[in-house]
Amino acid sequence: MSALVLDGLTKRYGSFVAVHGASLRIPHGRFVCLLGPSGCGKTTLLRMIAGLEEPSGGRLSIDDRDITDTPAHKREFGMVFQSLALFPHLTAGENIAYPLRIRGASSAEQRRRAGELLELVRLPGAADRPVSKLSGGQRQRVAIARALALEPKLFLLDEPLSALDAKLREAMQIELKQLQRRLGVTTIVVTHDQREAMTMADMVVVMSQGRIHQAAPPMEVYRRPADAFVADFIGLTNLLDGAVAAPGVVAVPGGTLALPDLPPQGRVLLSIRPEDVLLRPTGEAGPNRLHGTLSFVRDLGASVEFRVDVAGTEIIALARPQDRPAVEPGGAVTVELPASACVVLPPGGERPS
Ligand code: ATP
Repeated sequence: MSALVLDGLTKRYGSFVAVHGASLRIPHGRFVCLLGPSGCGKTTLLRMIAGLEEPSGGRLSIDDRDITDTPAHKREFGMVFQSLALFPHLTAGENIAYPLRIRGASSAEQRRRAGELLELVRLPGAADRPVSKLSGGQRQRVAIARALALEPKLFLLDEPLSALDAKLREAMQIELKQLQRRLGVTTIVVTHDQREAMTMADMVVVMSQGRIHQAAPPMEVYRRPADAFVADFIGLTNLLDGAVAAPGVVAVPGGTLALPDLPPQGRVLLSIRPEDVLLRPTGEAGPNRLHGTLSFVRDLGASVEFRVDVAGTEIIALARPQDRPAVEPGGAVTVELPASACVVLPPGGERPS
């Protein structure tokens, strides 16, 4: 099946490598989020895909056609930048129709299509309003409509929602996702916000220091992180150092755990999400239990967070308020780390700062 294929895309600025050999296959119709901390190379990768940045190495193809050397304006991609880059002296309709005007469409056709696109982004009737008089969210919609005017093969957005306040941003994430589903256009969005990526994407590409660490559906990235960086960057996790003690048994601070998928020997890193850690009555026997001391409790509204000191290592557990055990800080607690929730990762490796 045809797709967008990145094959070892690399960008060097002098001796600094901003993107290291990025390889990725994006099937048609996917919603992809490039996610990572500031400076990890997301924008550089997006700009190489757009044709705005020349790769220092690697190839890029779409539908088996090599476009590495195709200029940006011939790629037929739609782009929305963080700055939106709208023309402030033009109306919403004129902004949206601009690419059509450049293509030589008649004024009637421009008006018709601008109206259609305004409907699509839920701004009907705004055609004659100057963009300078629109709200942030409305301007965002105009920029999206303009980028879609020429029915692009690929829709690229660089931090499109970062200027909006939290509530509007969340609403626009859902809207953008729904719009993409309706149109079916392959979409790539740069974001540093993992919640935003989880909301919108059907493929999350986690990057750090110019490298792709994992590219997978959001829940796979969350449940089966590829390494410590991904586990720690996406949501909150407990990372425990371990050493394989016997087949299927790993020694961790405070005891041992029986786990499948362990290597035959050596060191490992275990990741377990706080919501998967179970608090058990102290003294009750059971598998994969570690005994410790409750160091801190806080109510988070929908859940209660417990921090447990197990042989000098802190394990965080989240429980529902109704499951809150009757134990105060300083008291003894037992945590259970169910084997099915523990992810075995290679030891060491980079972690988010
Ligand atoms: P942010 O979220 O902060 O925008 P990013 O992940 O999009 O970050 P990029 O903008 O792709 O990161 O930058 C990646 C690295 O490349 C950064 O260290 C940046 O300083 C560097 N870089 C980007 N453009 C240039 C350039 N033109 N010359 C030299 N270095 C550059």
